Amino acid sequence: MTAPDFRGDPPSHYLCSLLEEAGLPHLFTTRHFPGVSAFREPGPPLGPGAQELLAAHALAAQPAAFLKQVHGASVAHVSHGGHAGQGDALMSDKPGLPVAVFSADCVPVLLYDPEGRRVAAVHAGWRGTVQGVAGAAVDALRNEGGEPEHFLAAIGPSIGPCCYEVDKPVIVRLDAAFPGRWGSWVRSRGNGKWMLDLWAANEEQLREAGMRGDRIANPRLCTGCRGDLFYSYRRGDNGRLVTIAALPLSATP
Ligand SMILES: [Zn+2]
Repeated sequence: MTAPDFRGDPPSHYLCSLLEEAGLPHLFTTRHFPGVSAFREPGPPLGPGAQELLAAHALAAQPAAFLKQVHGASVAHVSHGGHAGQGDALMSDKPGLPVAVFSADCVPVLLYDPEGRRVAAVHAGWRGTVQGVAGAAVDALRNEGGEPEHFLAAIGPSIGPCCYEVDKPVIVRLDAAFPGRWGSWVRSRGNGKWMLDLWAANEEQLREAGMRGDRIANPRLCTGCRGDLFYSYRRGDNGRLVTIAALPLSATP
């Protein structure tokens, strides 16, 4: 159910089977997707070279809406494309309007409320995770009338517990935010270092916000391990991965 459906040779992007079966236009890019500008490059993150593949997946009816990501937990409601201010989660109820987040180790999450017909994209690094941005996005969809037990979520390529070493300041913040609960998300390496499992932390936040575990897809694709496919900020890459989805233009069952 959670196996990634890679497309292209070399793979330029993949689809999440769970969202595919639900009829949600979406994709997760690899480093081989054309037309994506690097972090700090001028111009739109998704350039003309990206349009053909986006259009092939019903993601080019309008320009994508995106945020200046600031490692926070605010959720923006967007109704048109282009730059939509600061924040780390954005949601839309406009058919055909893609919402996109960018990452290179941080955890991207797509959320879909098929009944309420709303979609959200989330960017959660350790700071966003500590501030509960994934749960905040579920809450935002719920506040619009959605029922979280019906939502679907897909976690994208990001740094896994195999590669994500953190030190004391991160652990102190985790402990303050999730007292007594963060222990299962880390593995001590000694010498004041821990391996942090951002996937486990975010999956738990989604469940605590009311989602069902079997509606959360995580192919566990690690940006640290898979330099052939993904960008990793920690490895020194400047490129960005795109996580994007749009409500279908016509209603699907
Ligand atoms: Zn890894």
